[in-house]
Amino acid sequence: MATSIHLDKITKTYGQLPVIHGIDLQIDPGEFTVFVGPSGCGKSTLLRMIAGLEEISGGELRIDGQRMNEVPASKRGIAMVFQSYALYPHMSVYKNLAFGLETAGTRKDEIRRRVDAAADILQIGPLLQRKPKALSGGQRQRVAIGRAIVREPKIFLFDEPLSNLDAELRVQMRVEIARLHQQLGNTMIYVTHDQVEAMTMADKIVVLKEGRIMQVGRPLDLYNHPANRFVAGFLGSPK
Ligand code: ADP
Ligand code: MG
Repeated sequence: MATSIHLDKITKTYGQLPVIHGIDLQIDPGEFTVFVGPSGCGKSTLLRMIAGLEEISGGELRIDGQRMNEVPASKRGIAMVFQSYALYPHMSVYKNLAFGLETAGTRKDEIRRRVDAAADILQIGPLLQRKPKALSGGQRQRVAIGRAIVREPKIFLFDEPLSNLDAELRVQMRVEIARLHQQLGNTMIYVTHDQVEAMTMADKIVVLKEGRIMQVGRPLDLYNHPANRFVAGFLGSPK
């Protein structure tokens, strides 16, 4: 059921400015992959190209072996989670979760089933009638994740979803997202500039710098055998 993602010489140019310089990457079905690197290295651009929110300038993107470059975002089977402030403030939690499905014409009883299932997974059942402003930061983030779950996507993409939360809550939400991955088993890509998040959450880390991959591997392999000074410095490897 889980899905593979293949990036083949992917590039991105904004106007005249190249920002992604030929990315080759294989993501295996069910893997939790973390893109990590400093601000401006191209993490969001890469994720948005995979999601179909940004045009791919060159190279090929394949999902389960199928070319995706020209496939619209809504047909890629991908859901993306942003920071929690992307909730609709005037809608209840239930409505926030249901809205995208309603727009897509999903039947009412099917919407109810999916919202209840997501609420169950995220333990937000008692909050369904509240408005976002009556939620804590962690609860809002759960709702944001819930909006992705109800779409029953093949692939989940997370773009720095925890960067608005305080340190304690970030740790808690990391554990919850890891649990979500275990429970659902989907292929997931998680973007962060936080080395600790990358080290603790990833099956596979992709270290990026200035639109290029510096190294790909399992967290401990990268930490113990960094390919260069940049990776060593970034992951805090011992000298
Ligand atoms: P990250 O998510 O790693 O912080 P981004 O993918 O947002 O990095 O940005 C990568 C580079 O592309 C940066 O130099 C940024 O300024 C540039 N960039 C991002 N979006 C645009 C855009 N819409 N137009 C022009 N340049 C952009
Ligand atoms: Mg970004």
